[in-house]
Amino acid sequence: MAEHREEHQNFLEEIISEHLASGKYPSIRTRFPPEPNGYLHIGHAKSICLNFGLAKKFGGKCNLRMDDTNPEKEGVEYVDSIQEDLKWLGWQWDGDVHYASEYFDRLYEFAKKLIRDGKAYVCSLNEEQLREYRGTVTEPGRPSPDRDRPAEESLDLLERMKKGEFEEGRYTLRAKIDMASPNMKMRDPLIYRIRRIEHHHLGAGWNIYPMYDFAHGLSDAIEHITHSICTLEFDNNRELYDWFVQAVDPDGLATAGREPHQYEFARLNLAYTVMSKRKLKQLVEEGHVDGWDDPRMPTVCGLRRRGYTPESIRDFADRIGVARRDNVVDPALLEFCVREHLNKIADRRMAVLDPIELVIENWPEGKTETVEVVNNPENPEAGSRKVPFSGRLFIERDDFKPEPPPKYFRLAPGREVRLRCAYYVKATRFETDAEGNVTRVYATYDPATAGGNAPDGRKVKATIHWVSAEHAKTVEARLYDRLFRVEAPDVAPEGGTFLDNLNPGSLKVLENVKVEPSLAELRPGDKVQFERVGYFCVDTRFSRPGAPVFNRTVTLKDEWAKIQAKG
Ligand code: ATP
Ligand code: MG
Repeated sequence: MAEHREEHQNFLEEIISEHLASGKYPSIRTRFPPEPNGYLHIGHAKSICLNFGLAKKFGGKCNLRMDDTNPEKEGVEYVDSIQEDLKWLGWQWDGDVHYASEYFDRLYEFAKKLIRDGKAYVCSLNEEQLREYRGTVTEPGRPSPDRDRPAEESLDLLERMKKGEFEEGRYTLRAKIDMASPNMKMRDPLIYRIRRIEHHHLGAGWNIYPMYDFAHGLSDAIEHITHSICTLEFDNNRELYDWFVQAVDPDGLATAGREPHQYEFARLNLAYTVMSKRKLKQLVEEGHVDGWDDPRMPTVCGLRRRGYTPESIRDFADRIGVARRDNVVDPALLEFCVREHLNKIADRRMAVLDPIELVIENWPEGKTETVEVVNNPENPEAGSRKVPFSGRLFIERDDFKPEPPPKYFRLAPGREVRLRCAYYVKATRFETDAEGNVTRVYATYDPATAGGNAPDGRKVKATIHWVSAEHAKTVEARLYDRLFRVEAPDVAPEGGTFLDNLNPGSLKVLENVKVEPSLAELRPGDKVQFERVGYFCVDTRFSRPGAPVFNRTVTLKDEWAKIQAKG
């Protein structure tokens, strides 16, 4: 994979460069507008890196705005987690956190202006009638009988809707645009509907709530956003976005030619995962995972708990770029990014996941040595450490075969290998349990090979890791596989739901992992490479002082390189 990425501009950067060059905007302002009805996921992270990244690149600002116009599903828990995740990802929004709900007064004034200008009216059609009057893609809609309601009457009704005089569904406020427009969104769309429900940010007092299209573009204008970036499915909303901004013209922005505009890019889809907040929430609520931050979840907090770094997620967002056509990204790319970063920053340690004993028969009884092991070959500043070595060790079950198959170069009866940074050992015999599983291997060591080098230049074909049995600590490690078995888990199998696509083997808990003693001192969030095994991170929920639980972040095998080579 090429390390140097071409410095060519994506389509959004081209547009912004042009706008700055022509002086349309003296500076740019973007925004990230999450709906606080769930935790952020990797798709949001993509959008965040895009919006904050563009602002940074062009010397502009980026706002954080909670799009809290739908009070039912939203909550403070989500508002807090969004801010935490954003900061963790390394971005700082300009000024205070904004809330669309803070603009309710202004939006209400905007609506009254539209009524006075003959561009909006209070409509008494019910939900079913609204649908029926709207027409279809092939047939134009019909005007509401209230379309020409006098402005004073609409103003009065709107006021009373707000006060709570009517039950839900009795009236709506609609924009007066074009019932024959080929764009269904333009057929007198709703501006306000009655919702008699308390708002988590405002409390009681509002009985009407603005619709997304009205609130979103005008909130952008209120904040003097210049480039409002969203995903492709809002393509049809762009015309309406422009209509509201032009019709209301907040702060004279449209008149001055500095009004915000909407630009769409392809959302990030990841194979083997679902990304809709509704489905993620269902996984949490039904206990298929242990929370929004379960290390198998594609959420930002899940990735964090799994051991991902902000750097690796930003790198991922960068590498996938911005497209204008939908595509599905292989999770191997995300894994590649975290592996690249952890390779630089994570110290190496030895840990044996599936231990068997290795007894060195010619080792002096009771003797302990310490061997010097380098902490991170990628980072000279990481130094080295002393690791206790003795005549009884743990090695991986996989590293010994009674009858080695072809191309297996590790330990086998009569065969010599290097114990990492310690000595050459040669297996002599082994013991098994009743089922024939190897439980103990006996070997002899060559005292002349201290440090793992033979002075006679004799070569071995494998180096294996080990932990001194007497000094080892036993810890728990949790190995994760994909949460879903299939590439497109949103597609439910016949007669089932997406839950039927869950991978029953996505979590494997190992309770008898033998590790170097120093590993027991690691703290929640610490990251480490278990040599030859993978990158691990100390779990923030299950770890106890002196008893860390290790989440496997990613294996050492690079699947992405394989995909690239094939592709
Ligand atoms: P969901 O379908 O998961 O509920 P959403 O789009 O409704 O997602 P929002 O909170 O409204 O969630 O999203 C905030 C911002 O993040 C929006 O600008 C949205 O376009 C963007 N976004 C959401 N999902 C993705 C994704 N998969 N890829 C890129 N951007 C995304
Ligand atoms: Mg949304």
